Amino acid sequence: MFNPRGSSALQQCRFLLPIGGGLRYIETPMSLLATTQIRNFIGGQWVAPTSDAGLELKNPATGEPIGQSPAGSAAEVDAAVQAAHAAFPAWRSTPAPDRVQFLFKLKNLLETHLDELAALMTTENGKTLSESKGELRRGIENVEVACGIPVLMQGYSMEDVAPGIDEIMVRQPLGVAAVITPFNFPLMIPLWFLPYAIATGNTVVLKPSDRVPFSAIRLVELIHETGLPAGVVNLVNGGKPAVDALLDHPMVRAVSFVGSTPVAQYVYTRGSASGKRVQCQGGAKNHVVVLPDADQETTTRIIADSAFGCAGQRCLAVSVTVAIGEAKDWFRESIAAAAADLKVGNGLDPSTQMGPVITAASRERVMGLIGQGAEQGAKAIVDGRGINTSSAGSFVGPTVLDGLPATSPLMETEIFGPVLSVVHADSVDEAIQMIERSAYGNASSIFTSSGASARRFRNAVSTGNVGVNIGVPAPMAYFPFSGWKGSFFGVMHAQGRDAVEFYTDKKVIVERWPREWSRKF
Ligand code: NAD
Repeated sequence: MFNPRGSSALQQCRFLLPIGGGLRYIETPMSLLATTQIRNFIGGQWVAPTSDAGLELKNPATGEPIGQSPAGSAAEVDAAVQAAHAAFPAWRSTPAPDRVQFLFKLKNLLETHLDELAALMTTENGKTLSESKGELRRGIENVEVACGIPVLMQGYSMEDVAPGIDEIMVRQPLGVAAVITPFNFPLMIPLWFLPYAIATGNTVVLKPSDRVPFSAIRLVELIHETGLPAGVVNLVNGGKPAVDALLDHPMVRAVSFVGSTPVAQYVYTRGSASGKRVQCQGGAKNHVVVLPDADQETTTRIIADSAFGCAGQRCLAVSVTVAIGEAKDWFRESIAAAAADLKVGNGLDPSTQMGPVITAASRERVMGLIGQGAEQGAKAIVDGRGINTSSAGSFVGPTVLDGLPATSPLMETEIFGPVLSVVHADSVDEAIQMIERSAYGNASSIFTSSGASARRFRNAVSTGNVGVNIGVPAPMAYFPFSGWKGSFFGVMHAQGRDAVEFYTDKKVIVERWPREWSRKF
């Protein structure tokens, strides 16, 4: 049973609602969001946005209006960047073991508020409660890893590189870092960056997705509760105007971005042009290869979860299954049965297995792409366009397209909805070549009981994340979240040691204290 453990104010807003055939206590979407107005957080103060109105926001599961994002403005961005810049000198000289104390507190607060935050994410994003909790746990994992900064940030040194001369490498923070995030993981993706940025001594301006601002606002409220000094973390809401202002601001030294490939490319180009350090994670089109010797039941279950979990709105979601040889017959049947069996509905209902896509426009787009697939020769053996839900939410049912021709433009299109294409190949090498031709390189997986086939695949495949009998190969926080080709622009990735490298500059000190034993000139 859903039992939020929020603040006492939240608990007073609980309502008994008929859900899933029974009566359950839940926070209504409005009561949750009423506690969290869309505001900016600048220099330790919550301030009302002053820019024009931006996107209208609706609960994806009900169609109910839940707010309006501001467009964001250069003036608001400037105020946030100035606050971050002013906070930087004191924060960078705060000892690292002291800096991470705020992260230990944040971890505890995120865990204490896990149910409340999950309900908030589900309300604004549409994913199921268990998906929201899972997402937050992956985010907390990054907070935990960043608590190890006193070890991770260490440099190295060597005595006597010449007689009496020592050499020392230290890592120092950059200054103000901008973090720009997408709608599909409202909390996890800010947490891919923010903990490392501040633990290494930088100050931050977070610009969350203007389609899901509430979760990030609540996150920053909790960050504020840790007692973090004013200006170390700032929040500006908005869309393109806010992003452009961050990219052009001379005081912003680093930009971390996650979103679609065209915007990632734009952010990378514009940010780099003004000399910033930029890392941009882009879109994806992920393949999974199924061999005839794969375990049929677990393979089907795991691939169904990868394709339809979060309504297919994951950058690691599988979009194309390449069934090898006779795997095509059993896989087609078993995945169709699994897709047809999923319970679609409001993610706040604990029995729901798949929620809606983010907006009505997104639903129309996904349905249009299913139609294109059918026109281009695929057969929709499960067709999510016919889904019948009683609410006004933006639902698309799980869809399986069989036999999409290799020439179809849909083979290259990121659908970002619950649509899985099943195609066929004769060998693992043919599948590897198919993946090689993709413009994206986020992730791929193989399902097999053959070590030799798995070894061949993981060695040769052209993606940055690889799963072997894993459907969503999401690296743990102490590994980089990789991504190749059109799925990533930059050098250092999110998470772990890469994040430490990204948010720091190396300084090398060559040192001599002249004595009789030092080098003579
Ligand atoms: P998006 O590109 O529309 O938006 C991402 C961010 O950029 C948001 O903060 C948004 O406000 C801003 N933005 C949007 N349009 C802009 C523009 N024209 N100029 C400047 N800024 C702009 O992405 P989305 O729809 O929110 O997220 C889904 C996309 O993100 C998918 O393509 C998905 O694959 C990708 N994604 C990738 C990863 C990864 O790790 N590679 C992870 C999650 C999501």
